[in-house]
Amino acid sequence: MKLVSRSAWGAAAPTGSYTRISSTKGVKIHYEGSAVPGSLAGDHGRCAGHVRDIQRAHLNDPKEDWIDIAYSFVVCPHGYVHEGRGLNVKNGANGNPTLNAGHYAVCAMVGTSGITSPTSEMLNGLVDAIEYCRAQGGAGGEVRGHRDGYATTCPGEELYAWVQRGAPRPGGSGPAPAPAPVPPSGSSSAPTFPGRVLRLAQPMMHGPDVQRAQERLIERTWSVGPDGADGWYGERTRATVVGFQRDSSANGWPLADDGEIGPLTWAALWERPVTR
Ligand SMILES: [Zn+2]
Ligand SMILES: [Zn+2]
Repeated sequence: MKLVSRSAWGAAAPTGSYTRISSTKGVKIHYEGSAVPGSLAGDHGRCAGHVRDIQRAHLNDPKEDWIDIAYSFVVCPHGYVHEGRGLNVKNGANGNPTLNAGHYAVCAMVGTSGITSPTSEMLNGLVDAIEYCRAQGGAGGEVRGHRDGYATTCPGEELYAWVQRGAPRPGGSGPAPAPAPVPPSGSSSAPTFPGRVLRLAQPMMHGPDVQRAQERLIERTWSVGPDGADGWYGERTRATVVGFQRDSSANGWPLADDGEIGPLTWAALWERPVTR
């Protein structure tokens, strides 16, 4: 998945406190429903600015009392998944507080003029976001449109038809099934810390200690990517560690979300009870 973090797209800080959620029934798909500049289509360099525009518009919305961009994630025509409110946070886009807590909100940069159809890359990005919400955000198996349960035309005819077909990848099948919930297990003591901080580095870190941490993430139902516990500390592993750190902080184990496995994160991987 091509994840663009809030800091990477230049998000402003939220103006209030998030409401934490541990799980949802699934994901609702949105579109912007307004003009989306056609100039974005050929130039991913403009996409971060467009996400900032959406956030600015939401923060200044005269009717809504939004504390941040309303969406959980925003997917651009090039398939990049921009982190909005992100995982384990209630969004503001689905219509009312109950609906917002019920499903994550993933928005495609599609509108009523300019970019009016999803690209293949965008559909793949939407599926990436859905799978990410399932693997790491406690999302259940539902994929719905904003209009399901709320009076709106969102996400537009084309995206809604895609949702009704089961949100398949272009030319492929639907999103991977939601992971089976694991029963909570007790804590166990951590193996000895490897003695080096495990992190995304150049050249890429590799070894049995990285593999051990990846195996433990997988045991805890965190996906580290299609290659599984391969012992390489790549972008995907880093993103997963960030997800684990944020989930830990939201569950009473404060960890810096730096994507690095130092002694504290290493200990939490084993000693924090599995809650998801
Ligand atoms: Zn919508
Ligand atoms: Zn883009």
